[in-house]
Amino acid sequence: LPEQEAFDIEYWLLEEAKLQRQPKPKSLAGRIAFVTGGAGGIGSETARRLLSEGACVMLADIDAKSLDAKSKELSDEFTADVVRTTLCNVTDEKSVTEAIEACSAEFGGMDILVSNAGIASSAPLEDTTLKLWNRTMDILSTGYFLVSREGFKVMKAQNIGGSIVFVASKNGLVASTGASAYCTAKGAEVQLSRAVALEGAPLGIRCNVVNPDAVLKGSKIWNSGWKKERADAYKMSELELEDMYRQRSLLKRSVFPEDIAEAIYFFASDVSSKSTGNIINVDAGHAPSFTR
Ligand code: NAD
Repeated sequence: LPEQEAFDIEYWLLEEAKLQRQPKPKSLAGRIAFVTGGAGGIGSETARRLLSEGACVMLADIDAKSLDAKSKELSDEFTADVVRTTLCNVTDEKSVTEAIEACSAEFGGMDILVSNAGIASSAPLEDTTLKLWNRTMDILSTGYFLVSREGFKVMKAQNIGGSIVFVASKNGLVASTGASAYCTAKGAEVQLSRAVALEGAPLGIRCNVVNPDAVLKGSKIWNSGWKKERADAYKMSELELEDMYRQRSLLKRSVFPEDIAEAIYFFASDVSSKSTGNIINVDAGHAPSFTR
């Protein structure tokens, strides 16, 4: 290269490097997010990820104590004015409507809706009582329906589009031993997301799904006895169960709430502006192997 040209390129690279070091504008600045199950493992980690990109976040949950604790934790980490909480039972129509209204009242609307509140539910088919079946359907399928319907109305009224993300499960696509109600409810969530995507598209409202595989860290579901139940179902110890989840995945890696939150962020943000009716499996490569 002629000397001057080489100098110019070097100078340009230097300027470029300086630009790279500039703090990047936050991708969700000015956005308002509503997260159900916000007091839980995946929900609170999702809130943290969205807050880190500049969103205001309302955590909605039925568990008042955990909600307070998470709200304090996130307010300390960010600022109190970007974190709000509301008590919400996703199976109760009035409670859902009030929680969604509270989000609009506190922050002035809703751009991102993460439907994530959930429970574990396991029993062999023959032992699945109608009570267990109905409870599972109520919290998962019906809860996701009520929350997305009410959030959809707010987004439609705002007339600026929006992003709805369902946290379903790999069990929305494949079956696991002794979890017929859970698998059915999660399958319904996946199918509901497609219906929402279809009706939302003309309005610029996207709807996508993140399917976690087993996320043991931070999950209240797992820490409240489900780990033992699953271990018993597979006739192994809890440690062996954890290792089985790791070993059965193609990558031989565990999945953490942070991994799920990252995929939720992708769908929540404009990075995925061309995606709707889509699914990301965050499972370290388990779903394609369909072993258990
Ligand atoms: P978690 O128990 O830590 O969080 C779930 C939250 O939902 C809790 O805070 C709970 O209080 C709340 N909740 C339960 N019932 C509710 C109701 N009726 N109304 C409002 N809130 C309610 O569990 P998590 O692991 O963070 O699970 C989040 C979602 O991810 C669930 O939908 C779950 O099915 C799904 N999921 C989890 C795993 C996993 O292994 N952890 C795997 C696949 C899918």
